[in-house]
Amino acid sequence: MFFFFVGGVEQGAGRVLKEAAGRCLRCGGAADLVETEKVLKLFFVPVKRWPGKDPAYLCGEYPLRVWLTDG
Ligand SMILES: [Zn+2]
Repeated sequence: MFFFFVGGVEQGAGRVLKEAAGRCLRCGGAADLVETEKVLKLFFVPVKRWPGKDPAYLCGEYPLRVWLTDG
């Protein structure tokens, strides 16, 4: 029997806690403080979400929204 599994857990952004709470280290733009959530994806379809541990800074200016670990 061939069992094929495509999936993984990605970090997603939840509710914005505070807009422009920090500054992006890469582009210098404002970074929002957001709640994080983990998203379980199977075949690229989100099937389960649960809240992450800590809020994180997320740059809204950068085209590919980047997570800033050292906010
Ligand atoms: Zn940025």
